[in-house]
Amino acid sequence: MKRKLRMGMVGGGKDAFIGAVHRIAAFMDGKIELVCGAFSINPEISKQSAEELFVAPDRVYADYEEMITKEAQLPEGERMDFLTIVTPNFLHFAPAKMALENGFDVVVEKPMTVTLDEAKELKAVVEKTGRTLCLTHTYSGYPMVKQAKAMVKERHFGKIRKIVVEYPQGWLSRLSEREGNAGAAWRADPKKSGLSLVMGDIGTHAAHLAEYVSGLKIIELCADLSTLVEGRVLDDDGSVLLRFDNGAKGVLMASQISAGEENAVRIRIYGEKGGLEWANEDPNNLIIKMLDQPRQLYRTGNAYTAPYTLSSFATHNTRIPAGHPEGLLEAFANIYRNFAATASAKREGRTPSPEELDFPSVDDGVRGMAFVQYVVASNASNEKWTKFEA
Ligand code: NAD
Repeated sequence: MKRKLRMGMVGGGKDAFIGAVHRIAAFMDGKIELVCGAFSINPEISKQSAEELFVAPDRVYADYEEMITKEAQLPEGERMDFLTIVTPNFLHFAPAKMALENGFDVVVEKPMTVTLDEAKELKAVVEKTGRTLCLTHTYSGYPMVKQAKAMVKERHFGKIRKIVVEYPQGWLSRLSEREGNAGAAWRADPKKSGLSLVMGDIGTHAAHLAEYVSGLKIIELCADLSTLVEGRVLDDDGSVLLRFDNGAKGVLMASQISAGEENAVRIRIYGEKGGLEWANEDPNNLIIKMLDQPRQLYRTGNAYTAPYTLSSFATHNTRIPAGHPEGLLEAFANIYRNFAATASAKREGRTPSPEELDFPSVDDGVRGMAFVQYVVASNASNEKWTKFEA
């Protein structure tokens, strides 16, 4: 493209958490500009947010329906190219569907929808319209996660046998939803959050990370969900046993009552010859543990020589030389950059490269919603082992 891609936003006003992260990520590489939005449920906050972001007053809309309708009527050279959806979970599906049907690409937060049926419907709309949908599963944007995936794919560890993935947080250890925390309030409300709080909010990240790095698919699971804070309506802690399509076994833990934890995402994968470990709180490190060998530490941004050369996927998603920390904002920006490159390539009639296509898609969104649905069904059932079909 000879110009920046034009972005619109639903949600992400001054009253929001993740919207600002999306803007930092989208702007990091200078290929995207913000042109319009319906930034908040509160029109005054939406207007103030637009002013601070230098969005023209006539491109601030009352709601997503007005935005999509009016943007679609603008000349091709002015209207937004894609819509970023950073609203609570129950407000993902309708704006995503309407945007796709009006010719816009979509970036949408996880979980993609609140039900598996909605997710499947959205996939059908993506297929029908040929538009691009990007789902922001942040952790798969890190260079060392991509290196881990590449090493598993090259069979560095032999056949994969065991996957342990954890996402403990402590921020819901109290009944924050009743103490004026707006982000906690909608997450704890089944109508706005979905069937499960902990699995929708962070379990989907863990399940995606396990499938992304291993290249395997979950085919069966056995789940135990709990509500450990008295007075809470939805679950806040869960453990899931996993079976993968190559016979590997897994354990997934997602918890929002792990008091004192921040965002301690961690994955360990073990094959016949060795294993790997990556953690969000130390994201530039990838620990490699081979049978009968000293432990190795791969670091982001190094020009290692063979046989330790970093994969093209790791280097494509690295911006600065080794030793200068890259973190969550860059991982998020990688998702945006790859999405933008793919959306632009499609508009130009060019085939995107494998590195450009490397961002979570509508298929990952469907698997995420299937994960939530089957975890909840397994938890409720006495049969326990539940088939995972998506
Ligand atoms: P939040 O409560 O902080 O912000 C929600 C925003 O949506 C607010 O600006 C609110 O005014 C706005 N909003 C609500 N209804 C609206 C409507 N009808 N029209 C326009 N705007 C409306 O929530 P958050 O923490 O920013 O989470 C938003 C989404 O992002 C959720 O789906 C959440 O799961 C996801 N999220 C993802 C990550 C990640 O790591 N990828 C991290 C945090 C949140």
